[in-house]
Amino acid sequence: MIEQSGRPSDGIDEPGWVAAHDRLVESLRDLIRIPSINPPDPPGGELDAARYIAGVLEDAGVPASIHEPVPGRGSVTGRLRGDGTGGEPLLLLSHLDVVPAPPERWTHDPFAGEIDDGWLYGRGAVDMKDLLAMELEVVRLLAAEARAAGRDPASDPIPGLRRDVLFASTADEEAGGFVGAGWLALEHPDTLRAAAAINEAGAVAVHVGERRIYPIAVGEKGVTVYRLTFHGVWGHGSMPRPDNALLLAAEAVARLAVPTPARLTPVMRAFLDGAIEATDGEARGLLQALAAGAGDPGALAALCSPVYARALDALMRDTLSPNVLHGGVKYNVIPGEAVLDIDVRRLPGSSEPAMEALVRERLGPELAAVTDIELVVASDAVVAPYDDPGGLFPVLESVVREHDPGAIPLPFMLPFGTDAKHLLELGVPSYGFSPLRQPPGETYLDRYHGVDERVSLDGLRWGLPVLYDAVRRFCG
Ligand SMILES: [Zn+2]
Repeated sequence: MIEQSGRPSDGIDEPGWVAAHDRLVESLRDLIRIPSINPPDPPGGELDAARYIAGVLEDAGVPASIHEPVPGRGSVTGRLRGDGTGGEPLLLLSHLDVVPAPPERWTHDPFAGEIDDGWLYGRGAVDMKDLLAMELEVVRLLAAEARAAGRDPASDPIPGLRRDVLFASTADEEAGGFVGAGWLALEHPDTLRAAAAINEAGAVAVHVGERRIYPIAVGEKGVTVYRLTFHGVWGHGSMPRPDNALLLAAEAVARLAVPTPARLTPVMRAFLDGAIEATDGEARGLLQALAAGAGDPGALAALCSPVYARALDALMRDTLSPNVLHGGVKYNVIPGEAVLDIDVRRLPGSSEPAMEALVRERLGPELAAVTDIELVVASDAVVAPYDDPGGLFPVLESVVREHDPGAIPLPFMLPFGTDAKHLLELGVPSYGFSPLRQPPGETYLDRYHGVDERVSLDGLRWGLPVLYDAVRRFCG
């Protein structure tokens, strides 16, 4: 067939893409079968996954390094070389670990990698062994092209690459990444230092009527956790008292959970403007109201999926969620102490001290006077540039359009955190780009940490050449 569009992926013929898809699916199944659960009990799953990947890379002629800062907990890194004329490398980042998956409510074994009716099931299918396996396959394809040109991918430049491509798959993302990407950033920054990174959770099609929006993650909210200790008075349960610490905690929970006012950040303004342009009718009206600061994201739930409406709502404001409450020792003892953990997610521009002040204000002076507030975790919001013409974002936009004419790629934020925060310390902007095009009824975000996590094989078939083109275009 005559090359029409000039996409780099057109340089690989149809049988070549069929074989690449098959390898991708097989390595994804293999990875799902390695239970790299975090918290690791006992440790070892992440290291097993790292070793598996190192084996795949080395079979492709690409040297791999395993980093094991804590016994049984490992990350794996590798590098393909460009000719050095194109600037800093591109980093393909992923995490090896997955959250636990109690199998009771699953229809398929979460660690078997079963395929059923075009879907591949398993913990990690979308978070995020899918992108990990796609990135691994892109590295394999590039290494094979070097070998076909008589070059050694361990040391010679890959044909057509002007930048290096770094590969890093890390442990511990699901618990903050401190023995994974965070540790690498401190101890081996050269394994991560790049012009830009491709990371999880973005460019998954959201169907809006006949059109498809591809939110590309350019940022994520900051995470702050406070531990509140309420001091009441111990006593006999037969004689109730109002300063029972559980009553104090219950009052605090009710006050803290009230939503904060909406605030539109520049990224969400750009997203909503694009989404408004792409929609019509009732959806358009709701989005316009949201952009004007007067909308009700709840009403959107009826039109798109409730999980997207919830995500959108969370991206329009700082959020406080009371998530853990401990108190009491026995049914007939009034507890004199209760402990509450609250999960606070900050928009860009909202500082940690401002959030603590908000917590105090919500408690009110009387309750605050009997409460200790401890800061447990704080990481700032992350935003990567999306208007730099020489940056990665325009490349990501254009490859999505090339593979789905009429597609609407838009900058978006994630309500949750990823390893992007560790890249920020090295000045590496990170983009959530795990290109997938799945059937309209599939609510991808519900599968995150959810039941029956799965990915569509056709979605992967579409996404792999998109990722390949993104890498070739940015590095070519
Ligand atoms: Zn993830």
